[in-house]
Amino acid sequence: MSHLLEVKNLKKYFKTANGALHAVDDVTFTLDENETLGVVGESGCGKSTLGRTVLGLHDATEGEIWFDGENITNVSKAKFHELRKEMQIIFQDPYASLNPRMTVGDTIAEPLQIYGMFTEGNDRDVRVKELMDLVGLDQRFINSYPHELDGGRRQRIGIARALALEPRFIVCDEPVSALDVSIQAQILNLMQDLQEKQNLSYLFITHNLSVVKHISDKIMVMYLGQMVELSDGKELFVSTLHPYTKALLSAIPRASIHQNRQRIILKGELTSPINPKPGCRFAPRCNYATPACFEKNPALEEVLPNHFVACHNVKEINGL
Ligand code: SF4
Repeated sequence: MSHLLEVKNLKKYFKTANGALHAVDDVTFTLDENETLGVVGESGCGKSTLGRTVLGLHDATEGEIWFDGENITNVSKAKFHELRKEMQIIFQDPYASLNPRMTVGDTIAEPLQIYGMFTEGNDRDVRVKELMDLVGLDQRFINSYPHELDGGRRQRIGIARALALEPRFIVCDEPVSALDVSIQAQILNLMQDLQEKQNLSYLFITHNLSVVKHISDKIMVMYLGQMVELSDGKELFVSTLHPYTKALLSAIPRASIHQNRQRIILKGELTSPINPKPGCRFAPRCNYATPACFEKNPALEEVLPNHFVACHNVKEINGL
């Protein structure tokens, strides 16, 4: 069976005055219909650049992106314009991504206008109201402006806009990070409901492992542009194998004082992503680093069934 999205050895480097910044370095994954891949890592790890490169908002430096059986790597702008109907994005900050001078109705209708769909006044309003119902946004807000709404409602506008063209794949770039914790759960539930109803596939980007835990079928952990761990969502929390993932997980607040998990504090310098030195990029901060870690970059290998890790010492560290 072919995958909806297949990314093979994708690289995205940016030229800087000091050399090439390796924002995304050799990332490979697949995504099927109705599936969510959570992408987790600290800010600057390349997860947003990965999402934007997949969507054609950045040109890939190397590697391939296949969508629905077609190689779409660095296709023409016109082709990407067509693809955008099927591949959409939801941004982190709903306020910054909305035009303050456009009403809710006009904002949701804008993609329809760009693609010449539902252009008649009546048709357009019916479709906009359908989308507002779909995302749980009361129709009375159709003539409101973004500043009149709270963060949760503004993010619902962003989601309605993304759904307007009936896409199959959505890059969700930190979609709940700017929201209050109480609203985050509502938006995550909404996104899960919409996934079921609309048969959507998500690339769900976040710095927060506890957010992806509930929504992801698979989780990829990135560190300085590279994949360090990839597994089924539940498996990652049952057997956390990479030292960096262990540190991320240790930072999640515990639900109960009886759950004994010690916070791992990462010390040491971050490796520069500009012309990175050979060796594991996590080595300067890793408690398990050995001399070999500073010489050779570990490859991503299947350590347990469907559980991939890039670490020279993964077996010794985890007693496998
Ligand atoms: Fe740590 Fe070495 Fe594994 Fe890198 S390869 S995570 S430095 S033990």
